[in-house]
Amino acid sequence: MPKLCKAGQQLREQIDDDYPDRDRKSDGWIADARHMAKGTSDHIPQDGIVRALDIDADLNAHKEEAYALVEKIRKCAKRGDKRIKYIIYDGKIMSPIMNWRRRKYRGANPHRSHFHISFTTLGDKDGSWFDLEGDRNERIQTDGGKLGENIPRDGSSDIPSGGLGSRRNCKCGASISLA
Ligand SMILES: [Zn+2]
Repeated sequence: MPKLCKAGQQLREQIDDDYPDRDRKSDGWIADARHMAKGTSDHIPQDGIVRALDIDADLNAHKEEAYALVEKIRKCAKRGDKRIKYIIYDGKIMSPIMNWRRRKYRGANPHRSHFHISFTTLGDKDGSWFDLEGDRNERIQTDGGKLGENIPRDGSSDIPSGGLGSRRNCKCGASISLA
């Protein structure tokens, strides 16, 4: 039974915490059979691990909120969280190429209803907290960095069904590549 990588589980949890009422219709992580047959995508399990996550762009907030959230994830990656491989949203891709600058995404699906995050193998087992607000240094000064850190879990965080009402299959459609 393939699993979403730990980094993906953690990021989804943080987003769920921040937007408890968000729409999850366009959520997804694992490729469906048709998609799997097409070849390359981080939604296709490798050694039982899926290294991609789709989050519905409807965060049940103002439209700009999805852009703001993507921007937080982008900056987190740019600050050095190497678990994030690339992000695609609204016709743009952000990756270490050009130091996380937004570039035009030429794939088949422009990713407007959801945003896509691919993870590196570093995120397979590393489910530590994502510093989306960029305030880790500040927090270390005030509370030793403990507040908001990843709470140890009992292993039940392996969410085979997609969890929290999220869709299971990704909606990325055609294969994702950096080309
Ligand atoms: Zn995707």
